[in-house]
Amino acid sequence: MKKSNINRTRNMAVVACALAGVAHAADLAVTRAPFATMPDGAKIDVYTLTNENGIRLRAINYGTIVLSIETPDVNGDFADIVLGYDTLASYLEATPYFGAIVGRYGNRIAKGTFTLDGKKYTLAKNNDENALHGGNVGFDKVVWKAKALKEKQRVGVELNYLSEDGEEGYPGNLDVTVRYWLDNQNTWTIEYEATTDKATPVNLTQHTYWNLAGHDSGDILGHQLRLFADRFTPIDNGLIPTGELRPVAGTPMDFTNLKAIGKEVNAETEQLKFGLGYDHNWVLNSKTDQKSGLRMAARVVEPKSGRVLNVHTEEPGVQFYSGNFLDGTNIGKGGHAYQYRNGFCLETQHYPDSPNKPDFPSTILRPGEKYKTRTVYNSRPRRRRSSSETLLSLPKPRR
Ligand code: BGC
Repeated sequence: MKKSNINRTRNMAVVACALAGVAHAADLAVTRAPFATMPDGAKIDVYTLTNENGIRLRAINYGTIVLSIETPDVNGDFADIVLGYDTLASYLEATPYFGAIVGRYGNRIAKGTFTLDGKKYTLAKNNDENALHGGNVGFDKVVWKAKALKEKQRVGVELNYLSEDGEEGYPGNLDVTVRYWLDNQNTWTIEYEATTDKATPVNLTQHTYWNLAGHDSGDILGHQLRLFADRFTPIDNGLIPTGELRPVAGTPMDFTNLKAIGKEVNAETEQLKFGLGYDHNWVLNSKTDQKSGLRMAARVVEPKSGRVLNVHTEEPGVQFYSGNFLDGTNIGKGGHAYQYRNGFCLETQHYPDSPNKPDFPSTILRPGEKYKTRTVYNSRPRRRRSSSETLLSLPKPRR
């Protein structure tokens, strides 16, 4: 979607929208409207969060799916920068986790099994012999309770789901709350909370597919990516970590400086062959900012639109997935077919298969404890580029 001349200041933005004939809210606001009905009659609503810069995020209480995020480019023209569908029916039919929160365990658990406190648990296997993203009916495929949130500085939606003891093989009743917030600094904050009545692994993450040039603009190979990680967790041919933390230096896995995703994605290395491209977890080692409690995970620059995405998190890892399984079969918003590598995910999380890897940071939540974590996506248009400005002149976040 294109809108012209949206200025940075609120009043100008309102005027510009009016001139362009587009009813694009430019207030910090949250609204709720009916979206669709589930086959069993459950009502699904869409929550629309807007800010003073005209940024708009739409999310539904099925799968906590973010349907769209519209942001301006360097010229003030808006585009929807996340992949997804127009209708609930499409999400119900088949989705590669577009926009959803995945859980109870985001990413893979080898052979769908783990042992905890001496007891062996068997999970639903939905990825060959492994469990992926919570199983056959993970958190992305259930109806959540939802309510709008409004504070002085931010607006949001709170989503709540009770995952019952034994669901997809996981132990314990897990009470999960996710909050999406938007503020006037163009920051999308995700807060995750959970409690349980039996010890269980928990690893929640957001599975939005980004394309900062616009969801329907083709492949993401020209995006420049920086990951704040000197090591990654190498995988076997089933995409299960071997347990090693391997330095990225001197390999195609090295994103310690901004680098085009496409530069080495097809390099002839074992890791890229196993992943069919990038589909790995990086071990974050940036410093945690004392004030915010967050560390940098990733920075993405899309040179044509000038859109920049910064990802901060409390999590120890980030899965960077270069959309290698997209193949044109998902007909998305506006009838657009998402082809190979038309979107990428940056899934902040604990490392894959942690329940079977005693040396990885633990993902076990026990009764009486609270799972509490945050990830922040911040999308800022770069200032109009002056002739002397190059990509290298971007402000460097602290490490
Ligand atoms: C995983 C991929 C998987 C994809 C499914 C990603 O989080 O890392 O391996 O194929 O989700 O869409």
